[in-house]
Amino acid sequence: MAGVTEQQILDSLKEVIDPDSGKDIVSAGMITGLQTKDGHVAFAIEVDPDKGAGLEPLRKEAEEAVHDLGGVISATVVLTADRPAQGPDQGPPSPGGPPPVDHGGAPGGSTAALMPGVASIVAVASGKGGVGKSTTAVNLALGLAAAGHKTGLLDADIYGPSLPRMMGITGKPSSSDGTTLDAMENYGIKVMSMGFLVEEDTPMIWRGPMVQSALEQMMRDVSWGELDIMVVDMPPGTGDIQLTLAQKVPLSGAVIVSTPQDIALIDARKGLNMFRKVGVPVFGLIENMSYFTCPKCGERSEIFSHGGARIEAERLGIDFLGEIPLDIIIRETSDGGRPIVVSEPESEHALTYRAIADKVWEKIEHSLSDQDAQAPKIVIQ
Ligand code: ADP
Repeated sequence: MAGVTEQQILDSLKEVIDPDSGKDIVSAGMITGLQTKDGHVAFAIEVDPDKGAGLEPLRKEAEEAVHDLGGVISATVVLTADRPAQGPDQGPPSPGGPPPVDHGGAPGGSTAALMPGVASIVAVASGKGGVGKSTTAVNLALGLAAAGHKTGLLDADIYGPSLPRMMGITGKPSSSDGTTLDAMENYGIKVMSMGFLVEEDTPMIWRGPMVQSALEQMMRDVSWGELDIMVVDMPPGTGDIQLTLAQKVPLSGAVIVSTPQDIALIDARKGLNMFRKVGVPVFGLIENMSYFTCPKCGERSEIFSHGGARIEAERLGIDFLGEIPLDIIIRETSDGGRPIVVSEPESEHALTYRAIADKVWEKIEHSLSDQDAQAPKIVIQ
């Protein structure tokens, strides 16, 4: 079947009327970032930030209009409220541009209302991909749950969402009230990920503002209920997208995952600076793949100058939260959807993750008790 053209998509969207202006959403200039690739279509609808949640039916209608076109395999539509107040001639979002300035959403301000029942949020970040950030986020969340805290896990790694697989969850979330999505759940943890919402073969063509609004939707339109702590698996790296996410989500703090190689430590430093820039406390550094344990004899070998992260943490004046070895059992359990903290809760590695979780919880308690005295501030440079 021939692919769908942009014109066909826009024509179908002209049938969708914005209830506020009475105009169709194309003439009203609300469509941005339209992308098509091999029958997969994605775009954003620019809406008034105050009306975002109420416009879900509009989003759905637009998605269905495009989905019904011949040649469309998947349609992914997000609402975005990133258009700056001034500047009426705003073009489509530029992928390489600077992060949009967050006019209304300082932590503790309007974004806090996104997840009203969530008492604290901790980001798990890394300077680059492949260091084991998601594995650490999952086992950290399970460690927090094992200590009796009501825990959620939000996959903000929108480019490569791996939490559904690691948490052993398949299927799509449903909605019991018709307006909000129910979080998925396994091992006593509530989970939401872009991986549940988009078709597996949808190309990840989200960029800049679209990524942010997808994340906002996962916070705002999901019934998370009452949680003591939400662990957010951040996208790897320290670019504009990560910086903006760090501003958008009212984070209590962040932990940085690094491997011992020097290069990774340079990346870890960038991560630290990013959070400092936006005034988010860094709870500490976790060294992953710190040393190698032989699966046969249990012998420990230090293949990558082990201990670099601990020294680096001291030098940077942040806490060292713990070290996790490179061990095939960690890979097999996390990639197999049975993370080690739940599948072998009394094993040495599980206990290490749980000890890290306890340290993170201590930091959270500190920051919660500080919160009344000093509201979290956002610094935009
Ligand atoms: P990231 O989120 O940083 O991209 P992942 O958590 O997806 O990294 O990990 C990348 C791969 O490395 C996965 O296959 C994961 O199972 C494996 N892995 C992560 N940490 C460890 C570890 N400590 N020991 C062995 N394998 C690991």
